[in-house]
Amino acid sequence: MGLEDACVHCGFCLEACPTYVVTRSEIHSPRGRITSVRLGISSEGIETCMFCRRCELACPSGVEYGKLIHNVRQENAAKKALNLVMEKPYLAYRLFKSSKGLNSRLVRRIHELIPNMDEPLEYREESPEVILFPGCLMSVAFRKTVDNALHFIKSRGYRVEIVNGCCGLSHYSEGDKARSNALIQQLNEKFKGKRVVSLSSNCSAHMREMGLEIEDFSEFALSELRDERRELIVTVHDPCHANLLGITKVTRKVVEKLGIRVVEMDEPSFECGAGGGYFIHHPEIADKVMEVKAEKVKKSGQKLVLSTNPACSLALAFKGFKPVHLADVLEGVENLNPS
Ligand code: SF4
Ligand code: SF4
Repeated sequence: MGLEDACVHCGFCLEACPTYVVTRSEIHSPRGRITSVRLGISSEGIETCMFCRRCELACPSGVEYGKLIHNVRQENAAKKALNLVMEKPYLAYRLFKSSKGLNSRLVRRIHELIPNMDEPLEYREESPEVILFPGCLMSVAFRKTVDNALHFIKSRGYRVEIVNGCCGLSHYSEGDKARSNALIQQLNEKFKGKRVVSLSSNCSAHMREMGLEIEDFSEFALSELRDERRELIVTVHDPCHANLLGITKVTRKVVEKLGIRVVEMDEPSFECGAGGGYFIHHPEIADKVMEVKAEKVKKSGQKLVLSTNPACSLALAFKGFKPVHLADVLEGVENLNPS
């Protein structure tokens, strides 16, 4: 019996699925994708899945959709190339800088969505007790957040080393089994015996599902919080994979302990539109999903959005909001004026 056979076609997953919400097409729904797998027929819907796995949370039959789609997907050349570049944040940074102005649709889209990249932060103390793992995109697109997280961990008295690299979530979501397994294996070797703090919450979720013992930054922060308060009003976005694994609940606990006022948006875990590298490769659907998300955020009346995952933060910034990570909030709120 295949994973697809657990689906009873009830349709409870449809409204949870961002690609269905913006297309109203069965082909681009979880149920339609599962049907195509069951019938063994090719479907463009397999390609257009954002791998947010919101359908899993909505499904009463426990269909393991993430595993199912991972098993049937075939990575195309453009996705493979981008994933390979992102494995090496220094390479990503250098290519980003040198590609500005190139006349290629893919390159133009990357520069449109990612306004700037910085060199990844390097840091290592003697006999480090904690590894800070920013994740590939965080390390180049949000270097200030990495710096803030480093400060926070050091302020708690730990000797820290930053390990820059990639958890392989994008490779996994595109069906590249060999590469995603290899990256997890490499991290396992690097992390052995160390306390690891992961700064990108969807990467935290993926590494945990792959069996690595890591703490999400929110979990570390919760265990290390002192009697601290922050005067701030935000709305909160719950990144999809972190939400699936319950990590976003911890983020919200930290927010509560800090006394931050939250004005909720509609469906905080609704896909931001980024889907890892999806918003680069599938602009037509991604732009529509980003628009739906933007409407939900707008209704909250807030511009400042707490977001603990870098691709989500880029999508939110693209729609004119000001994303802020927990590490930024912990290091001070002076520069977080949403105007
Ligand atoms: S995946 Fe789950 S929720 Fe969706 S149609 Fe199948 S059984 Fe129903
Ligand atoms: S993973 Fe997300 S985009 Fe893909 S079918 Fe499930 S809900 Fe839809």
